[in-house]
Amino acid sequence: MESKTHKPHDLVLSAQGVTKAFDGFKAINDLNFYLGEGELRTVIGPNGAGKSTFMDLITGRTRPDEGTIIFHKGEGDKENVDLTRMKEYQVNRLGIARKFQAPSIYANHSVFDNLLLSLDRSRSLVKALFYKPAPADLEKIGEVLETIRLQDRQHETAGSLSHGQKQWLEIGMLLAQNPRILLVDEPAAGMSDEETVRTGELLLSLEGKHSVVVVEHDMEFVRQIARRVTVLHQGHVLKEGNFDFVASDPEVIEVYLGRQKHEKVA
Ligand code: ADP
Ligand code: MG
Repeated sequence: MESKTHKPHDLVLSAQGVTKAFDGFKAINDLNFYLGEGELRTVIGPNGAGKSTFMDLITGRTRPDEGTIIFHKGEGDKENVDLTRMKEYQVNRLGIARKFQAPSIYANHSVFDNLLLSLDRSRSLVKALFYKPAPADLEKIGEVLETIRLQDRQHETAGSLSHGQKQWLEIGMLLAQNPRILLVDEPAAGMSDEETVRTGELLLSLEGKHSVVVVEHDMEFVRQIARRVTVLHQGHVLKEGNFDFVASDPEVIEVYLGRQKHEKVA
């Protein structure tokens, strides 16, 4: 079943013994997490489980009290980088991109220009807009437009897109930078059912090309995209396995599904 057993050189990220407390409360508690190269991983867990904090720790937004988060940049130990020692922009430059829930697009510029702008973050907005795209740039933008399925909207302003399309554009803006690791926090939030399905298809299409971590609440969506699923609870990995394994686990049902039901009632 588990054909993707992780030989060390297949790993792109290893978090070990990570702990982070806020005022004595351990939001992340001795967390161990291993991500394979090209893997699509879903991380689920109830509100407050530590999912977003974990992403903050990977991206250098928050520093852990204990533990290491190693990015395996290349072959061999020499290529290992401990992300917990890096600043947010340094982590980003290493090829670790994060999508927040609120899209940060240039609403008055075209979809195409938004992608052009994200090819090189160091270029200023004005410079980028007067820059004549090189053939390689056009090729990259074309490839991203196809992935996010916005080819026929590329000349329209980003502000005119639907909520879902804006989210795809932002994923596209991150993809334009060729990230090794892409972190996505609740991508389907606020989307229509159809948009949610297309978002799942988009994320699935990234498998093998990027290593992707998707944090998600919506179980139907998780079911659609699930490969290996990690269940976080109280800042610790409660269970890990395929969707059916975790979804049928009594402890998972208790802490995650049970609580979700409870929250709906409240
Ligand atoms: P999730 O994303 O799984 O819902 P979070 O990572 O946002 O959970 O939060 C985990 C816990 O850590 C919560 O109890 C939250 O209140 C707490 N927490 C997160 N960030 C901070 C912070 N900057 N200061 C204090 N407490 C925080
Ligand atoms: Mg969160």
